[in-house]
Amino acid sequence: MQIIIFGAPGVGKGTQAKILASKLQIAHISTGDILREAIKNETELGKKAKSIVESGGLVPDEIVAGMIKDVLKSERCKNGFILDGFPRTVNQADILDKIFVELNQGKIDLIKLDADDSIMINRITNRKVCNKCGNISVKSEVTENYTCPSCKSVNSYITRKDDTEEVIKNRLKLYHEQTAPVFEHYKDKANIIIVDGTQAIDDITKSLLEKLK
Ligand code: AMP
Repeated sequence: MQIIIFGAPGVGKGTQAKILASKLQIAHISTGDILREAIKNETELGKKAKSIVESGGLVPDEIVAGMIKDVLKSERCKNGFILDGFPRTVNQADILDKIFVELNQGKIDLIKLDADDSIMINRITNRKVCNKCGNISVKSEVTENYTCPSCKSVNSYITRKDDTEEVIKNRLKLYHEQTAPVFEHYKDKANIIIVDGTQAIDDITKSLLEKLK
């Protein structure tokens, strides 16, 4: 199974991608997670990406495409994958087409989660993220000694540097200008699944699993 999950920042792509990857036993490939890990570990990639990610910009296509190519060719993806955060530009989608030809990939499912910008700004400014596993919780729930419900780490929640209102507005602007056109690229190439991203997490998952059958 080859799935691309698509939608604006804060719409819940990461949350659904994690759940679907676990239920469908496929790899969850998040370019944002790979970049954040590289920044945390101060690798060469991390050093190049740090200021761009923290200001809400887009890391150059060739850097992200190189990362994705390596991962998709790896053993991890042999049972299928869900791509979260990639492709984010039409050029990245063109690069991905070529990778898929090389890898002999079959039909793609493209999931689009929809929601208004105001909902996403509200969600992002009210979220905290587990620094260890990427799980997301609402700010008001993360009290002292809060234990991550996913990986059980204690006091591991942080506010992402790119989750401030100013940076979010930049990320949404880039989404509308550069990422939204990617949907057109797949309209005739993929099995398109559109779901309302404002529903409860479980309802979205249920609806996605039904449509992916
Ligand atoms: P995300 O976790 O998907 O919201 O990604 C966080 C940040 O990582 C984005 O705001 C970008 O700065 C960077 N990033 C993630 N994926 C890509 C991509 N496909 N192309 C360029 N930059 C990316």
